Amino acid sequence: MKAFDFEEERLIAEIIARGANRVLLQLPEGLKSEAPNLAKNIEKTGVLSIISGDPCYGACDLFETEVNRFNIDLVIHFGHSKMVKNEKVSTIYVDVRSTAKITKTIEKSLLLLKEYTKIGLVTTVQHIQTLKTVQALLVKAGKTVFIGNSDQIHYNGQVTGCNYSNVKSIEDKVEVFLFVGGGRFHALGVALSTIKPTILANPFDQKTYLLNTQVNKLLHQHWALIQKAKKAKNFGILVSLKPGQENFKNAMKIKKIIENMGKNAVIILLREIVPEALMEFPTIDAYVNTACPRISFDAPLKFLQPVLSINEFKVLSGECPWQEMIKIGLFEK
Ligand code: SF4
Repeated sequence: MKAFDFEEERLIAEIIARGANRVLLQLPEGLKSEAPNLAKNIEKTGVLSIISGDPCYGACDLFETEVNRFNIDLVIHFGHSKMVKNEKVSTIYVDVRSTAKITKTIEKSLLLLKEYTKIGLVTTVQHIQTLKTVQALLVKAGKTVFIGNSDQIHYNGQVTGCNYSNVKSIEDKVEVFLFVGGGRFHALGVALSTIKPTILANPFDQKTYLLNTQVNKLLHQHWALIQKAKKAKNFGILVSLKPGQENFKNAMKIKKIIENMGKNAVIILLREIVPEALMEFPTIDAYVNTACPRISFDAPLKFLQPVLSINEFKVLSGECPWQEMIKIGLFEK
């Protein structure tokens, strides 16, 4: 059995029903390797199937700007649930649910959960279908389970890289969060946005562990970077060219605030915010990133200069105290 469900039957039925001629396949890193095979199968319906090879980390980064140039009449976005309200081109979302079994991993996690009774359950779209099973296993073990429902995200209990509203909606009721999913990225987001114990239960390798040591280290690093950025004279304000991440209005406000502090600020437009791109600006001492707030979060030291999120800049400018901002979430939008 494949590790993920790409819903090819549904896709092919929808492509035919919509009468598409030219479709664009957009997949996140980690799933791109499936793209050529998907394209081949989809082309059996008689449509031309084109793959986007650009990086794609979220549904905020829909393939939109080039659709007319290549006469694309349907975008198929894999791996993320819908985020933008009105797409410019007809778009089908495929969650790409995991087929990994969950029971053994949750049974293992009960060891780490033994001192807690009130548990917040959280996951990504890939494992959302497992929440009922996980809830039943935890209840059977005598736990009380909470699943967030903030109405700001597609599924109850779901998180994305920058939306932890479901977690926030239950944080006062729970003692610990149990995150079901592979990799640390989203689980770290849960821990950072709540500062509560967070246990990761990975159904792919069946490993379970507590994340909080890493969170404390990250918080120290970010505090130190804010202090370094305070001494900066020349700021770069990063604005993304990705439609769902572009925040020019906020960039203009931040520019004014910096100039009112007696410092210099320039706006820099970028598609991919990577260390190599920023190395081209050796006279800039610090950056404020108005694009994806997670870009510099999990490995802040990969950039030569501090790259602050908008919320971290609010700490630097004195608009919000550090402790208060930790509660709000240093990288929440
Ligand atoms: S802005 Fe960043 S964290 Fe948020 S959905 Fe997009 S890629 Fe993910």
